[in-house]
Amino acid sequence: MALIVQKFGGSSVADAESIKRVAKRIVDTRRAGNDVVVAVSAMGDTTDELLDLAGAVAPLPAPRELDMLLSSGERISMALLAMAIHAMGFEARSFTGSQAGMITTPDHGSARIVDVTPVRLREALDDGAIVIVAGFQGFNRDTKDITTLGRGGSDTTAVALAAALDADVCEIYSDVDGIFTADPRLVPKARKLLSVSSEEMLELAANGAKVLYIRAVEYARRHGVLIHARSTFTSNEGTYVLGEGMTDPRAARGEKMSEEEVGNEEPLVAGVATDRSQAKVTVIGVPDVPGSAAEIFALVAKTGANIDMIVQNVQSASAGRTDISFTLPRPDAKEVVRRLTEDKAELGYQNLISDDQIGKLSVVGAGMRTTSGVSQVLFDALRAAGINIAMISTSEIRISVIVAAEDLDEAARAVHTAYGLDSEIEATVYAGTGR
Ligand code: ASP
Ligand code: MG
Repeated sequence: MALIVQKFGGSSVADAESIKRVAKRIVDTRRAGNDVVVAVSAMGDTTDELLDLAGAVAPLPAPRELDMLLSSGERISMALLAMAIHAMGFEARSFTGSQAGMITTPDHGSARIVDVTPVRLREALDDGAIVIVAGFQGFNRDTKDITTLGRGGSDTTAVALAAALDADVCEIYSDVDGIFTADPRLVPKARKLLSVSSEEMLELAANGAKVLYIRAVEYARRHGVLIHARSTFTSNEGTYVLGEGMTDPRAARGEKMSEEEVGNEEPLVAGVATDRSQAKVTVIGVPDVPGSAAEIFALVAKTGANIDMIVQNVQSASAGRTDISFTLPRPDAKEVVRRLTEDKAELGYQNLISDDQIGKLSVVGAGMRTTSGVSQVLFDALRAAGINIAMISTSEIRISVIVAAEDLDEAARAVHTAYGLDSEIEATVYAGTGR
């Protein structure tokens, strides 16, 4: 008998029909002889609607009250799901985050899980019940208040439950079949990955892939939880996210996997991620003396903006000046530009340009560590497509480039083909959001 944690996102429980379908899925897992613990998100767009409501009654809703409000979304879906399971003749018990023992930091809206004490969940499992837990929420011991984990936090709830209960697998259900080598909406020839290392998944998630939330992948990596990302609409296995020392359960079962699915034996590149959420700021004609960058980024840091890439050009020999470009989340750009403009005289630069029509393309693969010439494939593909590169950055297992926003989709397709990732069959894309 296995213990399986299943997470269902908002789009999987958007209405009564979907809730019943999810209930059936859970009951089937139970019937197969497993213990089942479920983490569920709020129905459909409930969280956004609640946020809108809050904004309509107060310009700056108090964070404590906002968490009280938002956590109610998951209470609705958990109770309805338990009822739907009862109607199928099975025992189910729903629990709020705090009842489930999700202990978090006190930070409203972005709390982190620090401990899980699933005493009541164990009791319910011992009684033979299916356990349903409200995702995205917890409780702080000092403030004694309800907290939420940040948008998309139900993934983290599920992984934390799996870790605390020592589950065999944490299944994360959404309306896509698994993790793809690229977003199938942009790259129709994207291939579903059978498995991906948690290290690669972290880079993909950090660089725009939205199937799994980065905090959940981090948590799973730290606690050795096996994640299985799969679709609510089919019973096919999806993609396994493997931590250190884990093997794909299919391979462990000795299954021969089809060539189309497996792709290359040791794929150099796991996938291509795209991100349209950033803007680029260029400070032109910065005095090329020690301390210039320190002053600029001290100012940027004061705004709380999170810088991603930074590039400083070589000094233009005659002038003793240089240009510095950096990227940051689009919503933060305005304030950064305002502050830099305010201090223009003090900082001594000549001009400031801000561009929010950019896109970031990242190629991720653990194979890069040991193979040379990987970046050349990327640069050749972009040249052949006539796409200009504005910035480049790399990590041990990733190469990222900034291109014009309008070139991003084409760039993704060209690069996907160049690394030999194209699938013969087109990926099925459901109408949903991928969540
Ligand atoms: N309901 C929350 C959100 O929409 C949490 C989640 O969906 O995971 O962000
Ligand atoms: Mg949601």
